[in-house]
Amino acid sequence: MSKDNTIHDFELDLICDYYSSMERQGPGSPEMTKRALEFIPFLSNDAEILDIGCGTGGQTMTIAKNTQAKITGLDLFPKFIDIFNRNAATHGFQNRVKGMVGKMEDLPFPKESFDVIWSEGAIYNIGFLRGMKEWYEFIKKDGYIAVSEAVWLTDERPDEIHKFWTEAYPEIDTISVKIDQMQSSGYLPIAAFLLPENCWTTHFYDLHEAAQNIFLKKYAGNKTAEELVEYESFGKDMYEKYKAYYSYVFFIGKKI
Ligand code: SAH
Repeated sequence: MSKDNTIHDFELDLICDYYSSMERQGPGSPEMTKRALEFIPFLSNDAEILDIGCGTGGQTMTIAKNTQAKITGLDLFPKFIDIFNRNAATHGFQNRVKGMVGKMEDLPFPKESFDVIWSEGAIYNIGFLRGMKEWYEFIKKDGYIAVSEAVWLTDERPDEIHKFWTEAYPEIDTISVKIDQMQSSGYLPIAAFLLPENCWTTHFYDLHEAAQNIFLKKYAGNKTAEELVEYESFGKDMYEKYKAYYSYVFFIGKKI
């Protein structure tokens, strides 16, 4: 392994460690997961859901509590999947909720395997349009897709926030563009709703504070760890300053 690789792995490990102590790894809330579920017809015990970029499974356990379906959680990071499977066992869902390590770019399933593909705060890793198109074939006919995605709330915005987001995620766009992309990928758009502020504050950035305290103690003097905390705090400041211009929206579509 080259020196670069080693440093890279260490950084990934750090990022994992930071986020693994948090119940969620992206903005959202149990209430909003439940609201998105309300747009999808009853899911019985033979329904199959795939939760892509499931993280440690905060939203997955909410889906499990509110449906009878079998759920597969898929995430790139083995540490998240270990915590996910422990969470499933703690909730008594181990027989129908299973986490596996995998890549969203390379889903290891036969075509038309799932009644629902779910993905909260994770489709940006592949890009919204590519995810919509590539995941389509894994959904059964008349099945659903439900994803949350970063969007601009206005047609224009201050340079500072424009730059911050386009560097983090160049595909961030307006709600109408995302709905067009969903439709042109073969889905009937069913619903789009905005995540309220508490999905960013109470359920996300507030959790960072506790995580950061533990993290900075554990990695005292580690420059990469300090930079990671700084980056996350900067994200929080940006949100406070510019929340009128961006948020996350849940998009629900039906495969037709
Ligand atoms: N759905 C969770 C986690 C969102 S964070 C929540 O809302 O809390 C984004 C997640 O995507 C992380 O857990 C990250 O490990 C995962 N991820 C990033 N790239 C991925 C990829 N290429 N394939 C699968 N998962 C990926």
